[in-house]
Amino acid sequence: MRLTELLNTENVTISCELFPPKQGAQLDNYKKIVGDMAALKPAYMSVTYGATGGTSDYTVELANEVRNVNHIPALAHLTCASSTKEKVASVIQELKEKQIENVLALRGDIPQNADFPLPNQYKHASELIYDIKSQGDFCIGGACYPEGHPESQTLEEDLIHLKEKVDAGCEFLTTQMFFDNNILYNFMYKALKHGIDVPVVAGIMPITNANQVKRSIALSGSLVPRRFLAIVDRFGSDPAAMKQAGIAYATDQIIDLIANGVNHVHIYTMNKPDVAGAILENLSDIYVRD
Ligand code: FAD
Repeated sequence: MRLTELLNTENVTISCELFPPKQGAQLDNYKKIVGDMAALKPAYMSVTYGATGGTSDYTVELANEVRNVNHIPALAHLTCASSTKEKVASVIQELKEKQIENVLALRGDIPQNADFPLPNQYKHASELIYDIKSQGDFCIGGACYPEGHPESQTLEEDLIHLKEKVDAGCEFLTTQMFFDNNILYNFMYKALKHGIDVPVVAGIMPITNANQVKRSIALSGSLVPRRFLAIVDRFGSDPAAMKQAGIAYATDQIIDLIANGVNHVHIYTMNKPDVAGAILENLSDIYVRD
């Protein structure tokens, strides 16, 4: 199923994210995580590409597990900054063979200590999106940054390039994590003013242990509200309490988003079916799974 069939409706969707293992790890353990997550009946599941220390080699395989084994719509991430155009084309071919029609097309982080871009590389995600479209009938999504991408001087500058991404063929956007919903509402208002009218899926990261706070903020550059810092101060040294408080905070954010008309939420579940399950259980009358 093309994700736009889900995202272009008023129905609430809640999706989950998986990351593949490091090279050489036991793939079977990860297939079990896919099964456990699929049993929760998210609207779709995305599989990252080379992020969080995982290898890109297993992305298509796990997306295949999501779509063709567990029968949940799959969204395969694909980055280009560390690849040649030939390598990207070969991944696109694999996706076609496995009938994975949804791709989150990303630039990825620019490799350090390397000339970028080389002649056979894509410079921006918009170039990748344009090329994926020419190589098959994919439903393509892209990333967006409610607080602006760290490389952009201003949010305004970032939004101009985001519009280029949509014009290149990006049919929906998933946001970077954010911990204050007002940041998202402000971003959506500005995005619409820039003519960005594709569905925006709000990315929510449940922070369930204190170490994750530093790591997530360093990765995303997201602003952390005092209310959230107070939770980490109070519960950070008690793992069970921190987990419960992190799940409650994410649940609260999602309820507020849906109450304010943001119907599509992607949970950065980080391979934790228990966390995803607890949030979905909290939302059982809001996101009804059949
Ligand atoms: P782009 O859209 O190319 O934007 C990057 C920067 O370039 C922005 O500042 C933009 O404004 C600027 N820009 C764009 N076009 C132009 C132009 N024409 N001229 C000048 N400047 C321009 N990383 C992974 O490695 N694997 C993953 O699976 C992964 N999944 C992600 C999922 C989501 C939802 C998000 C939000 C991020 C994800 N990332 C992932 C991280 C992402 O790869 C990085 O944030 C990366 O630095 C930017 O990728 P992008 O696709 O947003 O790039």
